[in-house]
Amino acid sequence: MKLTIGHLYPDLLNLYGDRGNIRCMQERLGWRGIETVVKFFASGESVDFSGLDIVFLGGGSDREQELVCRALRGVKRDFRAWVEDGGVTLAVCGGYQMLGSYYRTSRRTIEGLEILDISTEWEPERLTGNIVLKSPLSTAPVVGFENHGGRTNIGNHTPFGTIVLGHGNDGRSGREGVLYKNVIGTYLHGPLLPKNPQICDFLIGQALERKFGKRVGIAALPDELEHKANRFMVRRLMMRRMFFGG
Ligand code: GLN
Repeated sequence: MKLTIGHLYPDLLNLYGDRGNIRCMQERLGWRGIETVVKFFASGESVDFSGLDIVFLGGGSDREQELVCRALRGVKRDFRAWVEDGGVTLAVCGGYQMLGSYYRTSRRTIEGLEILDISTEWEPERLTGNIVLKSPLSTAPVVGFENHGGRTNIGNHTPFGTIVLGHGNDGRSGREGVLYKNVIGTYLHGPLLPKNPQICDFLIGQALERKFGKRVGIAALPDELEHKANRFMVRRLMMRRMFFGG
C-alpha cells in the first residue's frame, strides 16, 4: 500500500517549517506499514493531480503568493475537479488564501483558484500569535501559531475550528479556517500535524479510504508524547491568558 503526497511549489511557499507537516504524514503512515512517495513541484512545473493522493500547500509572502497563483492558473480546473472528487488537501495560510476567489492587498488584487467560496482582504495590523481551537476533527484542542495580514471571509463554508484563544480567519467571527470535503484550509503554521495528531490521521485516513475503499482503517497509535505536547501547550497558553489576558 502506498500514498503519494504532492508538495506544491515548496520553492516559494516555505514559511515556518510548514513542510514538517509532510514529514508527519509520512511518519504516521510509515508506523502503520504504509509507504509514502513525496513529489515536489517547483513553480512553473505542471501538476498531474490524478497521480496524487494528498496535496500540500504551505504559506508564503504576498509576493510569492502572487507568483504561485499565476503558476497555478493553468491547473486551476484540474485542481478544482480533484477537490470535488474528494482529493485530500492541506493548505496553510498563504496557501489557504489562494484557494479562494481573491486576496486583496492595499496595492493589488491577486486572483485566487476559486476552489473555495472564500475571499481575503489585507489589513495593516497583523494577526499573530499562538492559537487554540475546538475542531470537529479532534477531541483534543487544536494548537498552533498564526501570522497573517489577511482577513478571510468564509461565507457559508464550515470552519475548520472555532477559536478558544487567538484570532483565526478575521479576528472577529470566532472562526478559523475552512473544512470542505477533504480539504482543510487553515492559518495554523508550522508543526500543525505533529502537534495535533488527530488532524493528521483525519487527512491520511481520508486519503486511504479514497484510494483503497472503506475496508482500510488506520490503526490507533499510542501517541503518548504527542498528547503530552498538546496538553502542555494548551495549559501554558490558557494559563498565560488567565494571568496576562489576550
Ligand atoms: N500573505 C498572507 C498574509 O499575510 C499570508 C502570509 C503567510 O502565509 N504567513 O495574510
